[in-house]
Amino acid sequence: MSGIFGVVSKQDCSETLFYGTDYHSHLGTQYGGLAVLGDRFTRQIHNLSQHQFKSKFFDDSMRMKGNKGIGVISALDEQPIYLNSKFGEFCIASNGNIDNIKELAQKLMAEGVSFAEVGHGGWVNVTELIGKLIIREKDLLTGIEKMFKLIDGSCSLLILNKDGVYAIRDRFGYSPLVIGQSKDAWAVTTDTCAFPNLGFKIKKFLSPGEVVLLNEQGMVQKNPGNDRNQICAFLWIYTGFPASDYEGINVEIVREESGKHLARHDKGLDVDVIAGVPDSGTSHALGYAMESGKPYRRPLVKYTPGYGRSYTPPSQHTRDLIAKMKLIPIREIIEGKRIVVCEDSIVRGTQLKSFAISKLWENGAKEIHIRAACPPLMFPCKFNISTRTKAELAARKAIVKIEGKDIDDVSEYLDPNSQKSKKMVDHIAADLGVTTLRYQTIGDMIKAIGLPENKLCLYCWKGICSKKNDREKEPRP
Ligand code: SF4
Repeated sequence: MSGIFGVVSKQDCSETLFYGTDYHSHLGTQYGGLAVLGDRFTRQIHNLSQHQFKSKFFDDSMRMKGNKGIGVISALDEQPIYLNSKFGEFCIASNGNIDNIKELAQKLMAEGVSFAEVGHGGWVNVTELIGKLIIREKDLLTGIEKMFKLIDGSCSLLILNKDGVYAIRDRFGYSPLVIGQSKDAWAVTTDTCAFPNLGFKIKKFLSPGEVVLLNEQGMVQKNPGNDRNQICAFLWIYTGFPASDYEGINVEIVREESGKHLARHDKGLDVDVIAGVPDSGTSHALGYAMESGKPYRRPLVKYTPGYGRSYTPPSQHTRDLIAKMKLIPIREIIEGKRIVVCEDSIVRGTQLKSFAISKLWENGAKEIHIRAACPPLMFPCKFNISTRTKAELAARKAIVKIEGKDIDDVSEYLDPNSQKSKKMVDHIAADLGVTTLRYQTIGDMIKAIGLPENKLCLYCWKGICSKKNDREKEPRP
């Protein structure tokens, strides 16, 4: 997932833009980029795979002067992209993923369009492609509307030009986009944790497909959008920052609720300590502790200073090394204890096993009960909110072991009461080497979030994407 931030101020915006963009660093990504418009555009992009945003951009932000700007922490490609077009100059940043990128790029190239940037995987840059789809049309708003109909995937955007900052939310709302207002500025953000310390109050959670223009006068709606929301449920479970709100629902509160649901299924379980795998398991564990009445403690603490994010570096070896180094066990809390360990989700299970569970056993844990805050992940994300492949998912690996091969129809495994599902969970527990393992049910996860099921993307768990089917019925422009 990427994070995007934009600001229009009555004064110079560079400091606000710098910190506002930095507040998206938890999204764990490859590149950072800033673009500011003063007398002219200035733009800077850096590779963040081994660096923190602040250290790379501090000097740049001192030089980039202007009252409006956009910033991005990008999951895959370099951005923002600068384009000079029949609409004039603009910079564009995006958060999303396009499944049919090759088909669209070939179509544009056949029309004579060239691409300057190299994107992830050696193909075209996603944001450049989006910009070039938009500028084919007669004006910006028509271009955005047509682009949405052409892409398979998701895409929220910021466009910076002389008018101000256009904020455009993905038309199915997979990723959020939120408007804030301070005394002398307007801002737009993916994650609202960027707002409070910069003096912004939330003014509007944009609807799917909604387009607004932020300028010195305020916020002007250009397209009201629609109500076909299908926001990523995983934002609340794992990806989002605890201080952020999506659709008006705070992440930390949802995680506490999720932990309470987990605890309600463990009424007979007698343990000494409730813990979370830091950081994203922490709030689920706090909720579990509140409901169970057992003490929340920290048998594993995370040494953050000096370490990058363990999911950012390109090589698995480096990611594993960072994960290993970061978590430090406290023997006095672990030895002889029966411990419930809450984890946001079990993706591959390898880091959980090697760097959390093994440290607990090595330090004398008596029992380890893993509680995952969402059901087993069965399908890789299609919308760039989270990155993983089907073959690496712990649940899929267990299914291969049970069936002797990979199978397409996993419907029996999706029912947590089925024998197959129980067998799959037993396999994962045995592989992790824990006393017990239990997953959150999809119903409890939805209850913890508090939105109706049809307003959430649950593709990771169910493999059903109703809005994609809607889109397939739509005529292509
Ligand atoms: S597929 Fe999963 S991670 Fe991707 S948007 Fe849907 S729920 Fe979120």
